[in-house]
Amino acid sequence: MNVLVWLKRDLRTHDHPALTLAAGLGPVLPVFVVEPSLWSLPDASARQWDFVAESLADLREAMAALGLPLIVRVGEAVEVLDRLCRQHHIARIVSHEETGNLASYARDRAVAAWARQAGIPWAEVPQSGVTRRLPNRDGWASRRDGFMSQPFLPLPALRAVSGVEPGQIPTARALKLPPDPCPHRQLGGRTRALELLDSFLTRRGEPYRTAMSSPLTAERACSRLSPHLAWGTLSLREGVQTTTIRQAERPGGRWGGALSSFQSRLAWRDHFMQKLEDQPSIELRDLHPLAVTRPRDSDPARLTAWCNGETGLPFLDACLRYLRATGWLNFRMRAMVTSVASYHLWLDWRVTGQHLARMFTDYEPGIHWPQVQMQSGTTGINIPRIYNPVKQGLDQDPTGAFTRRWLPELAPVPDAFLHEPWKWPEARRLLGHRYPEPIIDIATAARAARDAVWTARRAPGFAPTAAQIVQRHASRADARFVNDRTPRRRASSAQLTLDL
Ligand SMILES: Cc1cc2nc3c(=O)[nH]c(=O)nc-3n(C[C@H](O)[C@H](O)[C@H](O)COP(=O)(O)OP(=O)(O)OC[C@H]3O[C@@H](n4cnc5c(N)ncnc54)[C@H](O)[C@@H]3O)c2cc1C
Repeated sequence: MNVLVWLKRDLRTHDHPALTLAAGLGPVLPVFVVEPSLWSLPDASARQWDFVAESLADLREAMAALGLPLIVRVGEAVEVLDRLCRQHHIARIVSHEETGNLASYARDRAVAAWARQAGIPWAEVPQSGVTRRLPNRDGWASRRDGFMSQPFLPLPALRAVSGVEPGQIPTARALKLPPDPCPHRQLGGRTRALELLDSFLTRRGEPYRTAMSSPLTAERACSRLSPHLAWGTLSLREGVQTTTIRQAERPGGRWGGALSSFQSRLAWRDHFMQKLEDQPSIELRDLHPLAVTRPRDSDPARLTAWCNGETGLPFLDACLRYLRATGWLNFRMRAMVTSVASYHLWLDWRVTGQHLARMFTDYEPGIHWPQVQMQSGTTGINIPRIYNPVKQGLDQDPTGAFTRRWLPELAPVPDAFLHEPWKWPEARRLLGHRYPEPIIDIATAARAARDAVWTARRAPGFAPTAAQIVQRHASRADARFVNDRTPRRRASSAQLTLDL
């Protein structure tokens, strides 16, 4: 019985439950389908594809060493799978469960319908702590921990379905993805993932807890594993267990704190992905339908200024330009750019969220959309955080080194005015010519946003719906799911805060 292993966001051979299951059933045909309909969506980009293409090339080599050819086909999933199954006498399909965007969810349903009709059983198995068809969150964290503590799956003995043309890994250009220069993008492939995990756990990670907040220090002190976890060049379980071993070696001090914060974030990953798994509409609709009193818009001038890092708010612009050039941003700055877009600029989070998704090499729908909603005040269960971009600049880039690097046009501005150049007595020389005037007054815009959000929260009907959302999506009391930087007094009401 030939078995097709449908690879998706799991580009590795190690700790690969789908491959292990398939190996026990018969000769294996590992296939990655490059689906034009998904890659032409507004959340997809050339930088993401380039990372995937590098990871596929790396995986092809790793599989070749096992005598297994990695098959790559461009086409829609149902057509490609149907053709391969007919040509190569495939009796079963095995893949991992995917928590993707709405389009991949619809695609999976189409594949399931086709497989049923073709009489080919399709087994989907979990590769993380996300549970499919979860009735509620009771007991979720301990089930997740149970999965994470199971031993890594060893590399199975594999027999390959032979005589299949492997197919070329297409370029972004061949896929007609718009050009998307990203000179400092992270490179794909498992070798890189293992290097990052090792260097983070043995050298770079010690200052993680304090250094993660500033874009100046986070670039080195964070693990940078996100695109690898998103595309599965490393399994989450491998990350969790390698960290656990390291925790036993370094139980206390700065390393101890850093490693336990890191473990929390690996758990948050599953926690957030579980939300989208449970409610795929989070990508499209406000989680709380009464979250704001007036609809958000997509004013083209404000949207373009924000996307291009030309809002006239220096630290915000520096973060957005850094993101464009690197494909990555630390958590706090992701929260800030989203918060300013959704509150001060009152832009539609669906549209700004798509821009960010395209810019992130590590775009992971299950983290992204719940986070975008959380930072936009639409979940109804998190305390709204309206970040002030000037304060963030002063706190996170006090010397101005980061802002100056990404906004060279601000070179003439003295340090004292860098984060608020409009207060510089000679601002007229610069603003409106080489750098824009701020497109909003921060205090006025924040006040209007705060009113819209808090007026909505006080309206009748808000609280009962919020309580239902808590019931469905909030973690049950578990110290890991409360921000480890939140004061203890607030942390005690863990279920309601989840104020990450
Ligand atoms: C608006 C917004 C959008 C985001 N979109 C994404 C996204 O598309 N893809 C993505 O991987 N992360 C996303 N994040 C979460 C977080 O910012 C990134 O995971 C992190 O910055 C990636 O860098 P790192 O791997 O060095 O993280 P580390 O700090 O080293 O953390 C290790 C891993 O833990 C997970 N993780 C860390 N922080 C969080 C968090 N707050 N919530 C859930 N999981 C977390 C990630 O898998 C990350 O790779 C988003 C955050 C915000 C505020």
